Amino acid sequence: MNTALLRSPYLDPAVEVLLAQASLPRRALFLDRDGVINVNHGYVHTPERTDWLPGIFELVVQAHVAGWLPIVVTNQAGIGRGYYDEAAFLDYTAWVHAQFAQRGAPLLATYWCPHHPEHGLGDYKVMCPCRKPAAGMLLAAMARFALDPARSLLLGDKPGDVEAASAAGVRGQLVTVANGDPLPTLPV
Ligand SMILES: [Mg+2]
Ligand SMILES: [Zn+2]
Repeated sequence: MNTALLRSPYLDPAVEVLLAQASLPRRALFLDRDGVINVNHGYVHTPERTDWLPGIFELVVQAHVAGWLPIVVTNQAGIGRGYYDEAAFLDYTAWVHAQFAQRGAPLLATYWCPHHPEHGLGDYKVMCPCRKPAAGMLLAAMARFALDPARSLLLGDKPGDVEAASAAGVRGQLVTVANGDPLPTLPV
């Protein structure tokens, strides 16, 4: 895979502690962001526009306690479209991680793709191997953190999320929390 376009993930300040706590083989709970973590108001990138989806903190607490490593994988074409820049995205992501950590639900890392094949401006207009439904973000996370795809799970709200999971050998599950469906209970 050509990973030249892949951005470095945002790593939680506690990443080394979290990795040391997770027994091998490690498993990830991959989470799409908009529509799974927060309500998808469209290109959310500020605390003011963030509405958490019901049950998400409880789910991540459960994952953390059971030894899953929660990792966000998010397409961020709003950057490529020029709605906000990479620095603003990373500031916001640090705030999101802090919100989770404060609730005993630490996120390990956030992987993100700023590109869009049609609507990206300048260098952002590219068919990127990291943009879901491609598997680049998941593959990079699995290589970096020695994750076992067969023991990992992805939750997403769009078919493209599940496609990305399948392409990485990870089980993907569609959740539609915004429609009032509860988040799933994790298999132990
Ligand atoms: Mg989504
Ligand atoms: Zn990309």
